[in-house]
Amino acid sequence: MITGGCLCGATRYAIDAPARYTSYCHCEDCRKASGAPVVAWTFFPSGSLEWPSARPATVVFADRERTFCPKCGTPLSFFDPAIPGEFEVTTCSLDHPENFPPQDHNWSLDRLPWFETTDSLPRHATFTPQ
Ligand SMILES: [Zn+2]
Ligand SMILES: [Zn+2]
Repeated sequence: MITGGCLCGATRYAIDAPARYTSYCHCEDCRKASGAPVVAWTFFPSGSLEWPSARPATVVFADRERTFCPKCGTPLSFFDPAIPGEFEVTTCSLDHPENFPPQDHNWSLDRLPWFETTDSLPRHATFTPQ
């Protein structure tokens, strides 16, 4: 079981499947929703996510569903109907984010000019399904 949760501890999740893919997202929507220059995501197969504590709050924007802790606002999960069969959680809400290093960069087109990483991971201009 892979576990994670929010800053205040009110909203916890558990995932009963191995991670399928990990990626940085530089898109403007992720930046706005997180308040951070980039968001690392970890992808899992649909149907493997449980909320053993409080249910998260849900916001649907541009047809995509994002969940947050209703008490502290930590961004937790993401679902895009254009990417059926899987969902994502914010890698840094996982209890052990060190085990889920990003494999590449998506939406490099939107990358902020003052934000740079020194890795040599593949960089995709938009979202490239893996
Ligand atoms: Zn919380
Ligand atoms: Zn994004």
